Amino acid sequence: MLLSRLAKGPHQQHPRLSLSRLASTATTHPSAHAPKPPRFKWTKRILKGGAVVGLGVVAWTIYDLRHPMPQFEWDPSKKTIAILGTGWGSVSMLKDLDTENYNVVLVSPRAYFLFTPLLPSCTVGTIELRSIMQPIRFLTRFKKREILFIEGNCTHVDPENQIITVQDSSQIVGDVSVTDIKYDYLVVGVGAENATFGIPGVKEHASFLKEAWDARRIRTQLLDCLESAAFPNQTESEKERLLHMVVVGGGPTGVEYAAELHDFLHDDITTWYPEIAGKFKITLVEATPHVLGMFPPDLIAYTEKTFAENKVDIRNNTAVKEVRQKDIVVLNRETQALETIPYGLLVWATGNAPRPLVADLIAQLPKDLQNQRRGLVTDDWLVVKGSPRGSIFALGDCSATKWAPTAQVASRQGAYLANMFGHLANMKREQAQFEQQGKTSLDVVQTLPPFVYTHMGSLAYVGGEKAIADLPGNIHIGGMLTFYFWRSAYLSNLFTLRNRTLVAFDWMKCKMFGRDISRE
Ligand code: NAD
Repeated sequence: MLLSRLAKGPHQQHPRLSLSRLASTATTHPSAHAPKPPRFKWTKRILKGGAVVGLGVVAWTIYDLRHPMPQFEWDPSKKTIAILGTGWGSVSMLKDLDTENYNVVLVSPRAYFLFTPLLPSCTVGTIELRSIMQPIRFLTRFKKREILFIEGNCTHVDPENQIITVQDSSQIVGDVSVTDIKYDYLVVGVGAENATFGIPGVKEHASFLKEAWDARRIRTQLLDCLESAAFPNQTESEKERLLHMVVVGGGPTGVEYAAELHDFLHDDITTWYPEIAGKFKITLVEATPHVLGMFPPDLIAYTEKTFAENKVDIRNNTAVKEVRQKDIVVLNRETQALETIPYGLLVWATGNAPRPLVADLIAQLPKDLQNQRRGLVTDDWLVVKGSPRGSIFALGDCSATKWAPTAQVASRQGAYLANMFGHLANMKREQAQFEQQGKTSLDVVQTLPPFVYTHMGSLAYVGGEKAIADLPGNIHIGGMLTFYFWRSAYLSNLFTLRNRTLVAFDWMKCKMFGRDISRE
């Protein structure tokens, strides 16, 4: 094209570029030979300067992330806060807490923070697990004072004597594997476990989607199902069973997992397993009349329509009654008919139940104040009701409050508690006066403003590069643009530059090369 243009004579050139015209310009305007001042000189300089400064900031941030400063040592004259858990609430509190004023003990069986909203993406390999994990020592090592992190399970709280018992959770344990720790304040942020409602077979046969190891297990099982279905001479009925992925619970976890499964089928299985792709089936089982009960009706309708287009079967009004090794028994709530559904992989996402530690603590507190089965009842300052001297606080999914048990609520509660402990330290003199008057830290806490939560909206991925958003001001949106909004919101909410970079690379890698289908 370019060559043919060049081959054409000057008579065919654009009039403004003809040689004769250039020549005449040269004779009539001698000044045209003078060098022209570069255009956009300042814009270019500013852009270059900006790029250099930007690179400098990134380089400094990376350097800073790898070179923590020396820390203050443990100070016996300061009060000790024991924080249980490394989830949204506890980590957000730790992030904002001024540790100059306190000694801090952090106890959790998980030595990392997990960005749970992107966990469904890890089950199919859109994102790698390590990209959404942040080692907890990368955080504790940056606090002003040394933090005692113990990788272990808090197995018992003695509220009266203010002591916690911690059991080593490692697979390889030393001579000492249990220890008692005295605290002045205890912050319980241990999250919740999966609700199974006592349905037989769930714990034995279903996979959950709460922890990193759950996502790893689901990914392995999913690929197992595919390979077993592709095994020579596999019977048709067995192929059908192995390729039937059933998700129980139409809350955001179940919906987002089903959406990711659809993408995996659409983008990868169809290409790499053409012989079985047509048999792959996804069913979402929900006990109530609609999925995503906490979203507005128009977004529920949009989700159900998108799922229908994507051939993800939603079975509303259907409650699982029993789980067996290869099938589930469901009850259709409209017709009261029982049905058996064979499955290859079963993912259970029916919400939260309190952990044994929380149930044990509730049992030790006054029954009239701790009357919720969901978790620890707190007052407006997040103080656990009935805890001696107001020394125990609870936040996140292990607490029973008027807010939904979401990451957003837990992380605000964490920031609130960090701020509150800061105020408490500053109010030392008043605190001493209070103590002289026989009052407790609870009386000091209650002079501070209570926790107030402002909801910033809810987002959910529904598959096929579409998402829904329920935003403040009654704004309900759904579609591809919302998907990019969903991605950018999650990217900016990731805890560190390291996680943001890894997740952005994973998304790019997935778009360019597809998902990795090798089973580890
Ligand atoms: P959930 O409690 O929101 O939903 C569980 C669903 O399972 C319910 O719809 C329930 O009717 C259904 N169910 C219960 N028993 C059943 C049975 N036997 N058979 C069939 N269905 C059954 O649970 P979740 O999705 O795990 O979410 C937990 C919390 O985390 C919620 O507060 C949720 O809002 C929050 N969350 C939010 C997001 C987001 O905003 N994107 C993502 C994940 C979780």
